[in-house]
Amino acid sequence: MSYAKEMEVAREAARAAALLCEDVRREMVSEDTFTKKDKSPVTVADFGAQALICRRLAREFPKDSVVGEEDAHALRAEGAEDARARVADYVGRQVAGATEEQVCDWIDHGNGQVGPRYWTLDPIDGTKGFVRGDQYAVALALVEGGDLKVGVLACPYLPVDPEDPDGERGVLFTAIRGEGAQLESLRGGDARSIRVVPSHDVANLRMVESVESGHGDHSLQGRVAANVGVTRESVRMDSQAKYGAVARGQAALYLRLPSPKTPDYRENIWDHAAGALVVEEAGGKVTDVRGRPLDFANGSKMHGNRGVVVSNGTLHADVLAQLAGIFG
Ligand code: AMP
Ligand code: MG
Repeated sequence: MSYAKEMEVAREAARAAALLCEDVRREMVSEDTFTKKDKSPVTVADFGAQALICRRLAREFPKDSVVGEEDAHALRAEGAEDARARVADYVGRQVAGATEEQVCDWIDHGNGQVGPRYWTLDPIDGTKGFVRGDQYAVALALVEGGDLKVGVLACPYLPVDPEDPDGERGVLFTAIRGEGAQLESLRGGDARSIRVVPSHDVANLRMVESVESGHGDHSLQGRVAANVGVTRESVRMDSQAKYGAVARGQAALYLRLPSPKTPDYRENIWDHAAGALVVEEAGGKVTDVRGRPLDFANGSKMHGNRGVVVSNGTLHADVLAQLAGIFG
């Protein structure tokens, strides 16, 4: 089965969402950020990006469910009139005439269930990075029979050329299962194939990890990396842009070890699906800390997994051997 149409729709939807996010970030006011029940931030851009993407998916693939991070409950509530109007305004820049009610309905199209075929969406992965002025990503993936089939990762603030960090920003990573991974500029232009870093390329044997110390275990991550020969200072970035960094050979390892502060935390599917496929199709490997494959078949939380290990492939067994003594 070919996924050409799915890829085309996903790519265009992610581009549209990235454009909306950049509009918001340019014009952002403090009232654009809210705090969710779990204390994490959400912005008008998260809502707007989910609305744009879900609208496209609903039109092009009406039978597919969408498991997205956000829902419109808080936006529909009394007191949220201004926020709702702002979300509708941003969406309306791309979908002329979009009403507040339609926008809320599009957002809630993303409250579907994991099933035999579904999309999973993080409209803004790394919202803390987005608010801070750092990295973030729009992440969308198609899962069929528990297997990742299509992954699209838009990283509007990521330098196109890692060697030129002050140059053009905005990268789109794409992958279809069995067909390799590609990178293109968000501005347009040709896509090029990407590969993970070979183990002999010592200059790029870096680790990437979260900026937020509560999303991992910085000190253990540093020790494990050093023990497998990745001794350069780690690069910290928010969002699944880290998967992109491994996929394009900018880093060899992305460690997300359970934080000692939240040992019972379970990872969300939308925080990993798109990135994982991009890395696998670039020749890398993705498992949890015990070497188990990530579970995209059983709900929005990966209950059977702990942490995430992402590598260029060649380092993977060594890393898992290090972790076996700790998480075995
Ligand atoms: P990152 O930008 O890689 O640090 O990851 C951002 C994501 O971390 C958010 O989308 C959250 O879903 C997720 N997250 C929140 N709390 C935790 C936690 N205690 N451990 C791991 N990930 C978390
Ligand atoms: Mg996220």
